[in-house]
Amino acid sequence: MSVLKSDIDKRKQISVRGIADVENVTTVKKYFNRHLHFTLVKDRNVATPRDYYFALAYAVRDNLVSRWIRTQQHYFETDPKRVYYLSLEYFMGRSLQNTMINLGIQSAIDEAMYQLGLDIEELEAIEEDAGLGNGGLGRLAACFLDSMATLGLAAYGYGIRYEYGIFAQKIKNGEQTEEPDDWLRYGNPWEKARPEYMIPVNFYGRVEEIGKGKKWVDTQVVFAMPYDNPIPGYGNNVVNTMRLWSAKSPVDFNLKFFNDGDYIQAVLDRNLAENITRVLYPNDNKFEGKELRLKQEYFMCAATLQDIIRRFRTSKSIAEIKDKSAFDKFSDKVAIQLNDTHPSLAIPELLRVLVDVEGLSWEKAWDITVKTCAYTNHTVLPEALERWPVSLLENLLPRHMEIIYQINYLHLQNVLAKFPDDMDRMRRMSLIEEDGDKRVNMAHLSIVGSHVVNGVAFIHSEIIKNDIFRDFYQLTPEKFQNKTNGITPRRWLLLCNPSLADVIAEKIGEGWIIHLEQLAQLKQYAKDPAFQREIAKVKQENKMKLAQYLEKEHNVKINPGSIFDMQVKRIHEYKRQLLNALHIITLYNRIKKNPKAKFTPRTIMIGGKAAPGYYTAKKIIKLICSISKVVNSDPDVGDKLKVIFLENYRVTLAELIIPAADLSEQISTAGTEASGTGNMKFMLNGALTIGTLDGANVEMAEEMGNENIFIFGMTEREVEALKKKGYDANSYYNSNPELKLVVDQISNGFFSPDNPDEFKDLSDILLKWDRFFLLADYEAYIKAQDLVNETYLNQTKWLEMAIMNIASSGKFSSDRTITEYAREIWGVEPSYEKLPAPHESADIQ
Ligand SMILES: *Cc1c(COP(=O)(O)O)cnc(C)c1O
Repeated sequence: MSVLKSDIDKRKQISVRGIADVENVTTVKKYFNRHLHFTLVKDRNVATPRDYYFALAYAVRDNLVSRWIRTQQHYFETDPKRVYYLSLEYFMGRSLQNTMINLGIQSAIDEAMYQLGLDIEELEAIEEDAGLGNGGLGRLAACFLDSMATLGLAAYGYGIRYEYGIFAQKIKNGEQTEEPDDWLRYGNPWEKARPEYMIPVNFYGRVEEIGKGKKWVDTQVVFAMPYDNPIPGYGNNVVNTMRLWSAKSPVDFNLKFFNDGDYIQAVLDRNLAENITRVLYPNDNKFEGKELRLKQEYFMCAATLQDIIRRFRTSKSIAEIKDKSAFDKFSDKVAIQLNDTHPSLAIPELLRVLVDVEGLSWEKAWDITVKTCAYTNHTVLPEALERWPVSLLENLLPRHMEIIYQINYLHLQNVLAKFPDDMDRMRRMSLIEEDGDKRVNMAHLSIVGSHVVNGVAFIHSEIIKNDIFRDFYQLTPEKFQNKTNGITPRRWLLLCNPSLADVIAEKIGEGWIIHLEQLAQLKQYAKDPAFQREIAKVKQENKMKLAQYLEKEHNVKINPGSIFDMQVKRIHEYKRQLLNALHIITLYNRIKKNPKAKFTPRTIMIGGKAAPGYYTAKKIIKLICSISKVVNSDPDVGDKLKVIFLENYRVTLAELIIPAADLSEQISTAGTEASGTGNMKFMLNGALTIGTLDGANVEMAEEMGNENIFIFGMTEREVEALKKKGYDANSYYNSNPELKLVVDQISNGFFSPDNPDEFKDLSDILLKWDRFFLLADYEAYIKAQDLVNETYLNQTKWLEMAIMNIASSGKFSSDRTITEYAREIWGVEPSYEKLPAPHESADIQ
């Protein structure tokens, strides 16, 4: 391993990376060596790079421990209202560098590793991503945890410890293949198992009437074992907890086989129960009604609620209240946020515990439940909305199904009282859909069972009120709010783009790290040639670094002088990667038609995973790979145009590529992308956006001004109007010769000479049943791309726009988002106060 001293120095410039004085560096080396010896049982003759990574991770973890314990003690002593974020997904990525940054010990660690002759970046790269999420929804949960800790909230993330996270994507012969993500293979230094706090969760069984009450009996039990993960706040000595549940079979599982003498089979069958937390469902924006997934959702809710109620009952202000009147204070002490409907069984589960177990009246239990719960909607796509068959619920959770019927009965009485004689409205608003097989609409359950419902960007929250949940908005308008998404500036600038962070800090200091709105101070330098040069230099370095990575890992040579044009996100028809492909083919055809004409060089990178069962998304990947093969090997093209499909897009890859982007593609059909957060990461890192007026793009444009973003295409209202009028793809196809050629090339096998029909399904979608109106936006998109080229030729103008993007991105900090949730939903106040620092010998000061 070789280390360049200049690399280390680069990472030291920002003072918040901590002080690498002799004492701190000595402490780090001491604890690193101790862990190598005592924890990993290796000496430096036989230690592998992975051993060094683990020794380092444990040494860094040592610095978390006292802060973690003391934070939790502090919460017990001060007994604030607790915030519980419930999510089936946490897309965390790596923890090592994030922990060092938030603890302010990066410089000391860097120096210590340097003195030990170890390459810190090589060690960091050994850590597996915690890929317990699919895309934006899971990454949002991860950014929120960072912000909640940074804002000093007594917050907990609850979720599932999937043994296998999101699959690893391998591209073989231009097609996606999936490999299991065995992320725990070498152990996870960031988690602490808590087998002593195991909690039983019940499934199946039947409901028994006892007097006036009900009881759920004859159930099968599975245990939930908690694994605690530290969530350090930035520079405030706060360490919150993310508690992930893992399924454990009870000791007496399948004992009836045991009695029959089949002891071996009984032991083998313990796997069945433990399968509940085996694997993350790899769908993004798509509901898949599998029983195992329903079990995961309930398992998480049931274990979490027992934990919440236990913590509530043993909390300082409640413990002395011995009877059930303690629950009068529940919603003053507990806020539960549901990340989409995935954890919405928390609503009937809380009711069940309060009524059946704690003996509260229905009315009281309902009041508490609604005051405690709040629901975040993440999508308006009908195929993504959870609608569980009643038959499945009746079998797996019979008591919950009864409770849902009772909620529905009372809910429909309210509807009837406010809108008499409106049977159609009652049918539309029912929690139970009666057409076809009976299903429970989990969004309806979540709205009725929550005191606040929020969308994740202004336009999305408006669509919720005026369109998909219009009836519910008319019933309870006061419930509906907007909370525009955000991203954590720690990971998405300070960590992933240290050179840009330094350039910014030199101009305006370091306050932006927790007060991102301070980036607005950079606006005064937007036209400053010296500052423009510095920004350009950083971007160029990041582009070179990515080019090196692509050459080393994927054997592709790219032109670092070209526009780095990126679209990275889950592959989905609504996100319109296919529209990007139409543009690529258009550029290719233009080069072929006129090889001598001036051309603004571009490297177009597309990355993202397709759900394994999503046929069309996989075809789109294959098309992009096929186009890439043709374009990249055509001597007429040279280094004017390169097309690269980035394999295995994940948090770690996002951190590498986003800082290198010139152009960010955010081109979903207006009205379909709830918010997007990838768009914000690019903006913060100085890429310009080409995008539709969809999701948070609308607010990004508002913040930076339309002159700093390439907006194109139909508005949401125009899309609605087109739907009403009837969309005729052929009219666009027939009236634009460039477009016609492109679609014909897809349908006639131009990119798949060995199998001319390979992409016929895609051209058929485009011309016959395209729900996302690609051809309607094609012309506007191409024109906007032409303007991008023209603008790029004027580097002064481009850099001015890039600086305006960075300077206008303050709103999109998840600190702002969480502050709004805290004040307007949870009823708690953020705190910028620091907890006192611990002073154990393991800690760097
Ligand atoms: C931010 C992020 C996303 C979300 O991207 P969108 O463009 O908003 O869909 C998805 N995956 C990863 C790995 C991310 O970091």
